[in-house]
Amino acid sequence: MVININILIVDDDKDIRLLLSAYLKKEGNENILFAENKEESYKHLGIGDFEKSQEIDLIILDIILGNENGIAVCNNIKEKDEYKDVPIIMITAKKEKDYLKNAFKAGAHDYIEKPINKIEFLARIKAALRLREEMKKRKGREKELLKTSKKLKKANKKLEKMASMDGLTGLANRRLFDEILKKELLRAKRNNSTISLIMADIDNFKDYNDNYGHQAGDQCLKKIAKTIEETTNRPADLAARYGGEEFSIILPDTNKEGAIKIAEKIRENIISLEIEHAKSDVAEYVTLSLGVNSSKINSEIDDKRIEEFIEKADKALYKAKENGRNMVVSN
Ligand code: GH3
Ligand code: MG
Ligand code: MG
Repeated sequence: MVININILIVDDDKDIRLLLSAYLKKEGNENILFAENKEESYKHLGIGDFEKSQEIDLIILDIILGNENGIAVCNNIKEKDEYKDVPIIMITAKKEKDYLKNAFKAGAHDYIEKPINKIEFLARIKAALRLREEMKKRKGREKELLKTSKKLKKANKKLEKMASMDGLTGLANRRLFDEILKKELLRAKRNNSTISLIMADIDNFKDYNDNYGHQAGDQCLKKIAKTIEETTNRPADLAARYGGEEFSIILPDTNKEGAIKIAEKIRENIISLEIEHAKSDVAEYVTLSLGVNSSKINSEIDDKRIEEFIEKADKALYKAKENGRNMVVSN
């Protein structure tokens, strides 16, 4: 038989309690608890006002406890979640057999008849304890499964985040940018609000790489990304790495004046980083050119409309480059 098993015998008849306990002990079950009535059984089980003192694995319960009803007791025990998986074996006399149907309804697992036949009794106990063990194992597996599924969910979330994040800068990548831009354009149309887009490109960055090396170039990109991210502070704003050394910032609910202000702030903050750029023909530090497009959206949002929206910001950026770089131009 299984070791470290606690069995509770609930019977008002002392002789029965002693007999069953003797049978069980002979089979190696040392941990046997006794209850004479409902109250005592609840004490052991931690039902009502009582604190449970130990785990119970099996309950042997008399169907009539003096003037108390064993079936009602069975019902009360089974109402507790922690006893759903604990088998209850009812003890009945032949004349009480009619009650058995109700006992099973109340959640009893099996029954034995008085006078008790030792071999039959032990066989029932063995079967009940095997069931208990299987249920415990199942619970353990369920717990493991839950843990694994939680881990998987977490990993999936991380993966999802990684899939939409640029590996170098930690900004949104192009994929997320495309997704959010479409959503925000649709929202702007719905709300009849103005939406702005800033396109930014580092000035003379090819020369920067040639002069300081590609790794220094990457470090520079990281610093610029961080500054852009920190300068756009509304929750709905989205800064993305649009391409190699190009950044884009979606500004929902932002008019031209507001967008220019933010673009100008980014430009200033970048130059304030004072990243040395000896080969720049604009300044002694790394600088950014920015193009701004602000629009109200009246037409349907399809790929063509989205492209147009980006292109306008791109054209403004091109003008900023043409006009001498390190500046903001709007459409
Ligand atoms: P302009 O002022 O006209 O923008 O001049 P530019 O040299 O910056 O020209 P362009 O924008 O075409 O430069 C692209 C260069 O950016 C090419 C490459 O050297 C650099 N670049 C693009 N992606 C990366 C990157 O991931 N890491 C590094 N280190 N450099 C990159
Ligand atoms: Mg470029
Ligand atoms: Mg450039």
